[in-house]
Amino acid sequence: MNSPGSESDPLPIHSVIMRIKVCRKMKQDGTANVRSFLHLCFFFAGKEMSMENVTNIKQEALSRLEACESLADLQELRVLYLGKKGPIQDLMKSMKDLPKEERPAFGQQVNALKQALAAAIEDKRTVLEEKEINERLQQEKIDITLEGRKPNLGNIHPLTLVQKEIEDLFIGLGYSVEEGPEVELDFYNFERANIPKDHPARDMQDTFYIDMERLLRTHTTAIQMRVLEKDSPRTPIKVICPGKVYRRDDDDATHSHQFTQVEGLVVGENIRLSDLKGTLEFVARRMFGEKRVIRFRPSYFQFTEPSVEVDVSCHMCGGKGCPTCKGTGWIEILGAGMVHPNVLRMAGYDPEKVSGFAFGIGAERVAMLKYGIDDIRHFYTNDIRFLKTFTRFE
Ligand SMILES: [Zn+2]
Repeated sequence: MNSPGSESDPLPIHSVIMRIKVCRKMKQDGTANVRSFLHLCFFFAGKEMSMENVTNIKQEALSRLEACESLADLQELRVLYLGKKGPIQDLMKSMKDLPKEERPAFGQQVNALKQALAAAIEDKRTVLEEKEINERLQQEKIDITLEGRKPNLGNIHPLTLVQKEIEDLFIGLGYSVEEGPEVELDFYNFERANIPKDHPARDMQDTFYIDMERLLRTHTTAIQMRVLEKDSPRTPIKVICPGKVYRRDDDDATHSHQFTQVEGLVVGENIRLSDLKGTLEFVARRMFGEKRVIRFRPSYFQFTEPSVEVDVSCHMCGGKGCPTCKGTGWIEILGAGMVHPNVLRMAGYDPEKVSGFAFGIGAERVAMLKYGIDDIRHFYTNDIRFLKTFTRFE
């Protein structure tokens, strides 16, 4: 059992035991092979084979390292070779049994083995970690290009769009916006508007009655009457009154039991018909184009005197005549007039000192003209295909 060149030095017993341990472990793990067997033989043949022993351990370790397929295997391998009970540690311990002059070279070899193995294990760890990440990414793959479910976004109703545009226009002219109740008193809806209980003008504005005194308002003139009463006798008054109104009408393409008005009222000293005309011309041009002109036609409303229907030159044909204007070149857009002296008097104003004008714009009428809508019922039947058409005011 002695080496050929140093017959006097017996092989230390713990080196033999260590070597047997490594080989047993190799056998258990199935990594023992012819080389390790030969290695063992050489080892027993003499301790001068120790350098080769280092090389063989390295080759075995690297070979097993290459076969590692998981981080768990790698950790096991690391403990087996670099751990306190591993072969490298045993080699270090065996160093004291070597002749003094051989120890430095042997120690360097063992250290180099230890470092090489540690580096190789770390390299392998990097490779295995990357492999595991890639495998996990493959398993957890999500197709982020798949289109999600979009929430259903609503858009503003065309009547609201028109109403807001009219409001913005008048606010720019210094008007304020006033609102009032849709269930209104007969008093403000009719009597204050110069339509007494027995007056035939009520027939044109029959409505839905809650009881003898309360009804669904037929026009937003009722709001104007409340404003006049509230502010009397203060002037000037410049308000617009938007809101839903109701009539007992049979629904057809141009009539609805419910529609939307934006009415305006101006009261002050020296307010004249020319002020009304200037205001409405400005509004018509802003809403239908700068080249529009307007014309007044005599009309009748119980709460204005004189009263007019206001036409605007057709925005489709410029006044030449087309289907939109029914060949006339003019489109009726609203009714207006100078506030009736009776209305001013009932609200507490002196018609000899103050005067005013009022007008009423139908939001449906404006929206139908601007959007080319042929049936007023579309506004109220809530067909989503119709409503989705109006994403902006053009
Ligand atoms: Zn036309």
